[in-house]
Amino acid sequence: MVDLNDTICALSSAPGRSGIAVVRVSGPECFEIISRIFRPRSPYRELPERRALLGSIGDPRTGADVDEALVTCFHAPHSYTGENVAEASVHGSPVIVSQLLEVLCREGARLAEPGEFTLRAFLHGRMDLAQAEGVRDVIEANTRYQLQVASRQRAGELSEQLQPIKKLWTDVIVSLEAAVEFVEEDLAIESRALLAAKLDETAGELAKWIGTFRRGRIVRDGFSLAIAGRPNAGKSSLFNALLAEERSIVTEIPGTTRDAVSEFASIGGIPVRLIDTAGLREGAERVERIGVDRSLRVMADADAIVLVVDTSRPCTEEDDLLRARLGEFSCVVAFNKSDLPDVWTASQKARYGADWPCVEVSALRGSGIDRLRQAIQKHLFGEGTGERDGLLVTNLRHCQCLEEAHRALSRAAVALRDGLSEEFALADLHAGLKKLGEITGETSVEELLGEIFSRFCIGK
Ligand code: GDP
Repeated sequence: MVDLNDTICALSSAPGRSGIAVVRVSGPECFEIISRIFRPRSPYRELPERRALLGSIGDPRTGADVDEALVTCFHAPHSYTGENVAEASVHGSPVIVSQLLEVLCREGARLAEPGEFTLRAFLHGRMDLAQAEGVRDVIEANTRYQLQVASRQRAGELSEQLQPIKKLWTDVIVSLEAAVEFVEEDLAIESRALLAAKLDETAGELAKWIGTFRRGRIVRDGFSLAIAGRPNAGKSSLFNALLAEERSIVTEIPGTTRDAVSEFASIGGIPVRLIDTAGLREGAERVERIGVDRSLRVMADADAIVLVVDTSRPCTEEDDLLRARLGEFSCVVAFNKSDLPDVWTASQKARYGADWPCVEVSALRGSGIDRLRQAIQKHLFGEGTGERDGLLVTNLRHCQCLEEAHRALSRAAVALRDGLSEEFALADLHAGLKKLGEITGETSVEELLGEIFSRFCIGK
């Protein structure tokens, strides 16, 4: 699928105008090509390793200068890709960059495919597949918290934590294989129970990881938040109050449209997108008229819903109607305008909120907003939302592999307990272990590589 004999090149910094631009070259002919186009100020006999050299880059055919450049060479295997790599920093002009890439291609390199540098790093054993996916998540992080989670994966945390599980799993396989190999050494009933218990323990560990995926997915991809309520309940004010502090630390999420009622910000370091609730803004009558209309479908798509209620005005039929309409969903209730005299009684509020979490807020004054944020997070993730140390599975592919491994493990444990021939358990154990290997790319991922790396940006 990949030709490692090619020398590849690409702009590795962001495209556009900038102070400097970094063009990366990797592959067997890298240094020969660089030597032909780069003239350092102080001559050298061999390209020195990991030392930035100032000089000029030119077109060897025409002799024309392209730019002054700072070139650093990394000798295989001590480079990002594990191959000979050169990085040229030039002035950040798109014209210079395209000229440089043109010269490189004329001299024998070719333009890299998206993610091809990281793919080569994986193929040369510089990182495993889960780490390579972590590289992409690091680049795509929009908040500090996302970055922190992605950095841990890039550093190999998931791969490391899988090691003891794989070891234990392999030990069980070895014991069973021995029993199959030497028929006279049939496994004693106790040994089978012991092995099954070991498998249960491992299955429990995997189940815990699988259980983190709901939170992990939301951390990686962000979540959508719909704010519902009657007109003038304070929905817009509340949304602005929710986002006020955190708006600045979030970058715009690419590939998503920013319409009038969609905003991006973060709650607890997780990007949040406000869902268009235009339908509900028109009031309960509209909800009643159209029935299960578009607005409610929009609500159904949201990861979280905040129902804003103005408690400075008496509870009306409209409030009850809206509550009933939203009854099929799970919401957080914000009793708003707590700065004004409250005309709802405590029992009215308790009846209205029922089993939904309720928070008293004043969108105008900003009071109760932190508690509302916490309630939203708890609503999304359940208890223990503050815990940020455990391993978080953020990638659907990893989660699916873990689920398949878990199912195989459970089947194997049952087979052992039921006294079936060892071969049954072994078949499942081998299949499950292979699934775990797929996470880090040890086993049968060939067909997956194209899909994974094509989602990278060029130059990475
Ligand atoms: P929406 O129609 O639900 O989006 O409501 P808005 O956010 O536009 O607010 C309607 C009115 O209520 C505006 O005049 C707001 O200033 C006011 N308002 C919103 N929140 C509060 C609050 O907590 N206290 C008070 N006193 N007024 C509020």
